[in-house]
Amino acid sequence: MSTPRIAVIGTGTIGAQALWQLAKHGADVTGYELFSPGHSRGAAGGETRLFRHIDVENPEYLPVTDRSDLIWRELEEESGRTLRNLTGALAIGSTASAATRIALESAALLGSRAEVFSREDARLRFPQYRLHEDEIAILDKGAGIIFPERTVRSAADAALARGARILRECRVTAINQVGSQVGSQVDIVAGNGTERYDGVVVAAGAWTATLLPALAPYLATRRLISSWYLPKAGSTLDGLLPYLRTEPDYSYGLPTADGLAMKLGVGFRDHLPVESPDTAPLRITDEDLDPIRGVARDLFPILEDYPMRAQAYFEAYTHSRVEFLREHPGMPSVFVCAGFSGKGFKNAPVFGEAAARAALGLPPKSDSMAFILDAEHPSRPVPATYR
Ligand SMILES: Cc1cc2nc3c(=O)[nH]c(=O)nc-3n(C[C@H](O)[C@H](O)[C@H](O)COP(=O)(O)OP(=O)(O)OC[C@H]3O[C@@H](n4cnc5c(N)ncnc54)[C@H](O)[C@@H]3O)c2cc1C
Repeated sequence: MSTPRIAVIGTGTIGAQALWQLAKHGADVTGYELFSPGHSRGAAGGETRLFRHIDVENPEYLPVTDRSDLIWRELEEESGRTLRNLTGALAIGSTASAATRIALESAALLGSRAEVFSREDARLRFPQYRLHEDEIAILDKGAGIIFPERTVRSAADAALARGARILRECRVTAINQVGSQVGSQVDIVAGNGTERYDGVVVAAGAWTATLLPALAPYLATRRLISSWYLPKAGSTLDGLLPYLRTEPDYSYGLPTADGLAMKLGVGFRDHLPVESPDTAPLRITDEDLDPIRGVARDLFPILEDYPMRAQAYFEAYTHSRVEFLREHPGMPSVFVCAGFSGKGFKNAPVFGEAAARAALGLPPKSDSMAFILDAEHPSRPVPATYR
């Protein structure tokens, strides 16, 4: 059998992983990238992403995250670069919240890899956080920080070292399957002309709905703000762990790699709906910052409540928040990876692996991904109220 020719559209978080996996399988693989691998104009900027095993939506993610953990290590070894700093991280939440109950289920599955703290015990052990009366904290011991730009770059570099090709600053403008049957070839139209491939992986992030209008009904595209806060005079961030706080006061935060500031972010309801990152506003307004400044005031008495830096990123959400990992509805040779719903970074290695295997016609590595790959809900249209 001849070597399969596969195109990966978008070499960001997921696309770079898929490219690396395809190159490892010996495919003749080409990545198309609007900018350059490791840029921060999509979903993958801001120097830090949270790696955690504790899930607040579905404990079924645990085996997926455990496999990602292994592949992250493999990529670190192959690239010779440190890609994560596993300091441990906290899941904080009200005992009345359904999300906290799911987090506790995850903690039970983790066994000795997690530890639950009452509010009083958390106050002694993690004094920099001011928990509400009804909140607890769960320490996820194997969690920590991932360095997003460096990991995207490293996966792309590892793919290049294994013979992949990346066309940088090259926007794909159309994807046309030649015939509608399984196994039909696909034409990729980009600035450099049209090239034909045996299979295609689309990992275009917040640009997916623009590139593939058939998917627009299933995705809500959002502009997310990260903002960074310095400690107040006399306070230190030493030992401060990354955290996620569950609904109804959802927020998350990660210390910078140099430990000098804390990056904070809030949830979906405070994200601006946008058509595309191409036309979305990049300027950050006071209105954007208000909900995040509220988190600084509420949870962190040690932080200043005016940010030293703020930046916008872009992400696509499904209504169920289950990732859209499946064939394009009208083009079976095109496998779409989209809708990572604000939480796709930690599991990017597994999603990249799943996409590569699908593009090569191989079965999933294990059935632990079935709840995502076979889910009904990601293909339900996003209701108007969610947009
Ligand atoms: C602010 C923020 C904080 C987050 N925090 C976390 C976290 O702590 N932990 C976690 O696990 N997840 C987190 N996430 C989610 C995670 O970062 C995303 O789910 C993930 O990065 C999405 O990856 P992607 O590949 O879909 O998108 P991207 O990484 O944006 O990649 C898409 C790529 O496609 C390229 N592209 C698009 N259109 C074209 C085209 N037509 N032609 C060629 N190239 C194209 C783009 O340039 C880009 O490189 C966060 C997301 C945001 C925005």
